[in-house]
Amino acid sequence: MEQIANIPEAKGKERIVIIGGGFAGLEMAKRIDKKYYQVVLIDKNNYYQFQPLFYQVATAGLEPSSISYPLRKMFQNQKDFHVRMCEATRLVPAEKQVETNIGCLTYDYLVIATGCDTNYFGNDALRESTFALKSVSEALLIRNRLLLSLEEVLSAKDEEEFKELFTFVVIGGGATGVELAGALADMKKGILPKDYPELDFGKMEIHLVDASPRLLAAMSEKSSLKAARTLQKRRVILHQGVHVEAYDKPFILLSNGQKIRSRNVFWVAGVTPKPIPGLSENAYERNRLLVNEFNQVNGYKDLFALGDTALFLSPVTPKGHPQVAQVAIQMARRLAENLNAKATGRLPEPFVYKDKGSLATIGRNAAVADLGKFHFGGPLAWMLWLFVHIMSIVGMRNRVAVFVDWAWNYFNYDVSLRLLIRPRKSEIYHHEESD
Ligand SMILES: Cc1cc2nc3c(=O)[nH]c(=O)nc-3n(C[C@H](O)[C@H](O)[C@H](O)COP(=O)(O)OP(=O)(O)OC[C@H]3O[C@@H](n4cnc5c(N)ncnc54)[C@H](O)[C@@H]3O)c2cc1C
Repeated sequence: MEQIANIPEAKGKERIVIIGGGFAGLEMAKRIDKKYYQVVLIDKNNYYQFQPLFYQVATAGLEPSSISYPLRKMFQNQKDFHVRMCEATRLVPAEKQVETNIGCLTYDYLVIATGCDTNYFGNDALRESTFALKSVSEALLIRNRLLLSLEEVLSAKDEEEFKELFTFVVIGGGATGVELAGALADMKKGILPKDYPELDFGKMEIHLVDASPRLLAAMSEKSSLKAARTLQKRRVILHQGVHVEAYDKPFILLSNGQKIRSRNVFWVAGVTPKPIPGLSENAYERNRLLVNEFNQVNGYKDLFALGDTALFLSPVTPKGHPQVAQVAIQMARRLAENLNAKATGRLPEPFVYKDKGSLATIGRNAAVADLGKFHFGGPLAWMLWLFVHIMSIVGMRNRVAVFVDWAWNYFNYDVSLRLLIRPRKSEIYHHEESD
């Protein structure tokens, strides 16, 4: 396979190839000292995606461009830094090479920060029949499904079709599921009745199905209970401790024998990494790359993994770290500092995670927060959630855009992004687009 064109030799420096421009890959790319290293960042997309706000794009609260940022713009002024939009398809560690769909790349150090994909827990038929939320494009598909159902329900031909179109089912009771269900409840109460005065929104059903006996299982029990109570008050129907057996359209079949009729099924029940072929089996556990305290992949000296795809097992973290943004960012910082240290003859330091707490929003004026010993909810937690998310968004323009949309939405009980724009089928683009 030919080398990727137009990437100059790393003269007098070592080359670091980073696969994945998400939370971990970007932090790594920013922090590595280009005096000592040439950096090549590759990603399937030419933009970074801020996943925590996908659900707001899906529910027409934000535009996709407000939570995405072009990778090239981010690194415009960096010397000896190269970005390529391509997909890593195979690793050849013996030759220190990564194969991609546009050629191969040699490396001195390889950093794998490829994140996760949606987990269907072996029930792959659900991949074809439900809507996932793991990319901006999937968020737009959900938005279109939601808006289309509301248009179609107006001309439903019978009671069954009406119910099928007017019932929304969120599967997965983690932060994303709770946030999505809460946002749908907000739309049902404040926004949609103004757009569709002919419809009786008392008949719109929102279900949240969770296999775990409590929502937000990664948070404190107090926060779980508060989230459940708030959603119930907002008329979300909870199914806790039950899992989905199948989606035999139009019925979702639950493990307790219950059936829910719906055309709008949103699958946010979990994530799992999608390994790139080429490494030995010993490098993996449950699809995640086993790493040591220096983020070195088991069995490989110059290969590192970060973020959601990395699994660091220790007596303190017998199940590994949670798959959240802070872990990805902190791992990347440590590794960048360690490689910078190596270049100047200093010793690396082990990774130690500092838990800054967890937040989840349930909708307007409602959120839950676990900050060390403190667990609280309501408007204060919601304000904190808004602040943390605004500050985490990449790009000043995006921060301002999100702030304006949220302020408008808050004071007017409305958002103005409910356009149902569907791509025209076209032969001009020959290659398949990735998500
Ligand atoms: C809907 C949703 C909501 C979330 N909300 C929160 C939240 O509120 N708070 C929180 O802390 N965490 C949240 N998370 C989790 C958080 O987003 C992840 O923990 C974080 O993104 C992990 O960072 P990462 O760098 O490991 O992977 P990602 O950020 O997922 O980045 C992986 C990158 O790798 C690229 N890639 C993958 N495979 C290849 C390949 N073969 N070749 C080239 N490129 C590739 C992808 O395109 C992507 O850009 C949420 C996740 C989702 C899906």
